[in-house]
Amino acid sequence: MKWYTEYWTNHVKFSIRIKKHIYTKETRFQKLDFYDSYEFGRFFALDGYMMANEKDEFIYHEMMVHLPMNANPDIRNVLVIGGGDGGSVRELTRYPFLACIDLVEIDEEVVRACQEFLPLTAHKLTDPKVNLIFADGAEFVSETKKVYDLIIVDSTDPIGPGEGLFTPRFYRNCYRILSGDGILVNQHESPYFDDTRKDMKQIHKKLKSTFPIATVYQAFIPTYPSGHWLFGFASKSLSPEFRGDEDLLSRFKLRYYNKAVHIASLALPNYVEEELR
Ligand code: SAM
Repeated sequence: MKWYTEYWTNHVKFSIRIKKHIYTKETRFQKLDFYDSYEFGRFFALDGYMMANEKDEFIYHEMMVHLPMNANPDIRNVLVIGGGDGGSVRELTRYPFLACIDLVEIDEEVVRACQEFLPLTAHKLTDPKVNLIFADGAEFVSETKKVYDLIIVDSTDPIGPGEGLFTPRFYRNCYRILSGDGILVNQHESPYFDDTRKDMKQIHKKLKSTFPIATVYQAFIPTYPSGHWLFGFASKSLSPEFRGDEDLLSRFKLRYYNKAVHIASLALPNYVEEELR
């Protein structure tokens, strides 16, 4: 019997029984592994951490994309940083009025492997609205002259290649390239275990020091440490409230996100509010 195991803390292990380890590669940036599992279907890990799996990826990608897209229905140009599995891009391509989606992913091998082994998330990366740019997101935002209405930082954790996506300089550059009612959302770790709580507080402090509006919203993702996961919402002028078109949303037939979930995800437990203060 074979198991995939990752450490959530030094004292907590998370294991998934696997059928087959179908691919492994040491890329220029990280270790890339794909597995087939009994419970979560096909999934991939980067440097030994779960990234996306067939069973619960819809939760993370729907919440990452549809909350900001329904906080500001006038979003036309989107920048996704990281997101090499394509799940966030897939959700964005549902909106017919989007003009362009730039995906800036540092590791082309993640994109190519997900196109081969995880078409569920990657199949919209070839959409004509999508521009694939293989570069460091931190450098991209410091150099680009383009203006975006939404920046989605769908990154790995603030270690390794992802570290540069959690710095004050990075957030200041994102602020600079966002339009007047621009929004940034990011993968904002978790309030539960010590390590991710420390990261969460750091991220929040830096976002708050750069954006007039900075808060978090939450979703429950079984395969991320503790399952209680946060997303950062930062904006120049817009609060995160729901302003979307419910008819359009109902046509998407989403499995997690809806207007009530949008509103509820912003209601934080007391201990999380406390940690963020
Ligand atoms: N949705 C999953 C999650 O949140 O864990 C997966 C996110 S996606 C796989 C994370 C991506 O960020 C990886 O493909 C990684 O290569 C990319 N990444 C890490 N550092 C980056 C950087 N500095 N610039 C651009 N992409 C980066």
